[in-house]
Amino acid sequence: MRANKELAEAAGLETNRGVIVNDRMQTSDPNILAVGDVAELPGAVGGLWAVGTAQAAVAVAAMFGQDATYEAPSTLVSLKMDGIDVKGFGKLDTDDGAEEFMDAEESENIHRRLVIKDGRIQGAVFVGPPGTGKDAAQAIQKRADVAEIIPRLRDGDWAALADV
Ligand SMILES: Cc1cc2nc3c(=O)[nH]c(=O)nc-3n(C[C@H](O)[C@H](O)[C@H](O)COP(=O)(O)OP(=O)(O)OC[C@H]3O[C@@H](n4cnc5c(N)ncnc54)[C@H](O)[C@@H]3O)c2cc1C
Repeated sequence: MRANKELAEAAGLETNRGVIVNDRMQTSDPNILAVGDVAELPGAVGGLWAVGTAQAAVAVAAMFGQDATYEAPSTLVSLKMDGIDVKGFGKLDTDDGAEEFMDAEESENIHRRLVIKDGRIQGAVFVGPPGTGKDAAQAIQKRADVAEIIPRLRDGDWAALADV
């Protein structure tokens, strides 16, 4: 994907792969804001709808003189491609004592990774055929307490996610 940044370049704004912005979504001209796929923020992952809408919220706040800064959204990101679903959510590191559950069923082309802290899903990645990660997505969206199913997950029973 290549950002359509010619207009920004013609306006003299600083660009790289996209239009460079700070965490208030300001370009090198602080009166001009950029959000979405075209905006380039150091260390931020772009190219997703949830990222663009989170950035837009910060830009609107800035327009109204509020002091908001962009933080990568912890909303569930869901990608549907031909024959494959990809779902991603939250933090995947376990430095804070979170417990990780991982399973890669090569025979079924499924990759599942779940990070749980204090009975809540803190991070998740599910890649596989359509429907993969559906139960995890529902648990994330309702912020379900998953403490009770941890022993089942430890035994590799991923179907437990349907019971929260
Ligand atoms: C095939 C595909 C599948 C995707 N699937 C998912 C998904 O499942 N989940 C997900 O979260 N995200 C997905 N994305 C990413 C998501 O679509 C983008 O993150 C989102 O559309 C970005 O919105 P945007 O407004 O920043 O840019 P865009 O949607 O690209 O809008 C930019 C608009 O500006 C217009 N424009 C460009 N240059 C100029 C100019 N000089 N003058 C006037 N107008 C101009 C363009 O024509 C366009 O209409 C997908 C993207 C693609 C390509």
